[in-house]
Amino acid sequence: VKRVAIAVFIQETGTFNPEISTRAAFAAHRLEMEPTPEPTIDPGSELAGAMSVFKGRAGYETVALFQAHGGVGGRVSDDFVSEVRKRLTEGLQRLGPFDGCLLLLHGACASESDDDVDGLLVEATRKLLPTQPVSVALDHHANVTTRLMSSSSVVVGHRTEPHRPDETAAIAARLLTALLEGRVKPTVAWVKVPMLVHQEHFETNTGPMHEVFSLARSLEVGPILAVSPFPMQPWLDVSEGGWAVVTVANDDPEAALFAARYVAREMWRRRGEFAARVSVDEDSAVDRALALDGLGIICDMGDGVFAGAAGDSPRLAARLVARRVPGAATVRDRAGVKAAWEAGVGARVSVSLGGEVDSRHAGGLVVEDAIVEGLSEGPIAVPGLMGLREVDEGRTALLRAGSTYLHLTELRGSGGCHPASFQRYGLDVGKLALVVLKQSAYYHTYDEWLAGSVIRANTPGLTQSDLGQFQWRRLPRPIFGLDPVEHPRATISFTQEI
Ligand SMILES: [Zn+2]
Repeated sequence: VKRVAIAVFIQETGTFNPEISTRAAFAAHRLEMEPTPEPTIDPGSELAGAMSVFKGRAGYETVALFQAHGGVGGRVSDDFVSEVRKRLTEGLQRLGPFDGCLLLLHGACASESDDDVDGLLVEATRKLLPTQPVSVALDHHANVTTRLMSSSSVVVGHRTEPHRPDETAAIAARLLTALLEGRVKPTVAWVKVPMLVHQEHFETNTGPMHEVFSLARSLEVGPILAVSPFPMQPWLDVSEGGWAVVTVANDDPEAALFAARYVAREMWRRRGEFAARVSVDEDSAVDRALALDGLGIICDMGDGVFAGAAGDSPRLAARLVARRVPGAATVRDRAGVKAAWEAGVGARVSVSLGGEVDSRHAGGLVVEDAIVEGLSEGPIAVPGLMGLREVDEGRTALLRAGSTYLHLTELRGSGGCHPASFQRYGLDVGKLALVVLKQSAYYHTYDEWLAGSVIRANTPGLTQSDLGQFQWRRLPRPIFGLDPVEHPRATISFTQEI
């Protein structure tokens, strides 16, 4: 029997977000720190994909050491990172021996003192399993680092945005079984590309990202087993930051390096397309949505809750109220929720919204005499949203100011990215002229009502497209997106055999 250790640690850090992500941020998502052969398996999750490979497969025994999902937020506290590292090393030592390890990570996690928490965990694993296969699954918005690459046997990233974490984990798990059964001798190549680009073209079903990911798929033939482009999420000010490509071949270093270079060149060649801006100012976004025959969706690019922003900017909500638009917008605002709860359904309230967390970008909105249309609390089911089971928005309130609905939440929640946020009050989103979503990609839950393509609003915030506005301190320079770069500097690339 081959014994496999599985560990799940997922957190995407936005380093410009000043809130430190503590253990509590993980407890709010999914946190199980005790090793178990029977972990909780959320549908669509990393663990669901991994277990689907091992379940019913003869000759394997798996132990889930822990699963810690922290969502997206500021740097993770050093305390929690040491706890995770300790659980990992103790689990590998006490519950071993293990024949291999599957690490299901994000790849863009930074702590208070370390820019590369994922690399730290892979390195700690390698120290205890010096010759055993270590297979790593990452989000493709990861920052691929030297430490992570030199401590792992194989690395794969998500194939789509919106992501399918279960699919990626299953690929990593199948590669691990191939290594353990001696069917594959992995040779890995990787290339770093000096690019940093906003997320306006990050969806993989259209535009330049579709071209890059389609090329990656087309190269997975013969000895080339996996080709993973890594367009790093752009709000990550870390050493070694930038885009990358990682390839895994079967005993063929030249093929691995060829594929990695081919995809890296395609990323670089299309850099102008990636950098082109499609977002428009707030009022133009509203104009475009109103011109559609049906529901318009406006993405609040600067305040993306699944990309690390606070969700507390009322800038677009303010335009809807001022222009009396029959639409809906979400704002995270504890004081506003409290006022609405104290007033009660049917009462009128005056509230001042915005900037409770990100006071630098959010601006403010004063609403006089809004009607409290509904109050709610507790998690809501969000089918179809990124494999999430449910989202907790804390206590919430639906206000109506003129013909505009304002959805106030205590927690960051889904930022309006699922119609359930409005349906819980009986609001028919199909009758609205537009909905503001605090994210750039997760609008597919509105597909049945959606008219035309989504409209991206160029709003300021922690996830804004204007990357030059941030104070960059740790990123390698020069980098395309911030600096003039005629030719990419020498990219790192090598192959390894373990
Ligand atoms: Zn991602």
